[in-house]
Amino acid sequence: MKDLNCPKGHGPMALKELEKQTTFKGVDITYSADTFVCPECGIEAGTVKTAGNVQRAIADAYRSKMGLLTSHEIKSLRISHDLSQQQLADLINVGVASIKRWETGLIQSKSMDHVLRMQLQCRFDSDNYSGNRKISLPRIKLVAKQFEKLIGKRLLKIHDQFLFLAKYLWYADMLAFRQLGRGLTGATYAAIPYGPQLNNYKDLVKPIKASDELDVEPLSAEELRIIRQVAEKFPGEEAVYEAAHREKVWQEAATGSLIPYSCAYELTEI
Ligand SMILES: [Zn+2]
Repeated sequence: MKDLNCPKGHGPMALKELEKQTTFKGVDITYSADTFVCPECGIEAGTVKTAGNVQRAIADAYRSKMGLLTSHEIKSLRISHDLSQQQLADLINVGVASIKRWETGLIQSKSMDHVLRMQLQCRFDSDNYSGNRKISLPRIKLVAKQFEKLIGKRLLKIHDQFLFLAKYLWYADMLAFRQLGRGLTGATYAAIPYGPQLNNYKDLVKPIKASDELDVEPLSAEELRIIRQVAEKFPGEEAVYEAAHREKVWQEAATGSLIPYSCAYELTEI
């Protein structure tokens, strides 16, 4: 960056990163900005370049505080999806100029933020092995408790490594993915010789049992309906175990391989 001289004649000023407070759109925010400071008298000055950076820093601090994607987040999410600015613009039906402005500081509306998140974060999560959701151990426990209530049996059993519970979870997650476009728990499932099982179940069984199921968003009416549908279809542990073993998607999967959620459409027992 070009040197700047003190307007009071003290010679070259030093570039410093300063933490600043301001009120922006009625919200108190803190941001940091590169600023020229005179070592002699302390007067501050900016260049056109730093002024642009300041505007962006303020806009991003505001966005963080308001729960909106920052310019940096929009850009890095877009790049992580291998999308050009034009491609992202086409996907969400805006002009490419909007993407460019959002990535340099203009604040997107709440509704455009929602559209951006749907496009960038959902795709981000939909790797097809977690059912469009981040894995939540408390939610696994919440769903498990619901099954326990409905079939009247203990399923959260450490000694059997959730052998039967895993099948109920699998069916419920797959069915939810099929009907709602999103699983219930975010769990990834693997094909093991005892049927579909939580991937890495050996590391998960105890943490799931120890998690606090009251700590997560409650099950929606639709999600509860899906759990009920699975429980009614398989009223006992043997029923769900045997049904899972009749599923081609498990039979044909290599031992240890992950079972994608797209298999939900190929289930034959429910
Ligand atoms: Zn000075």
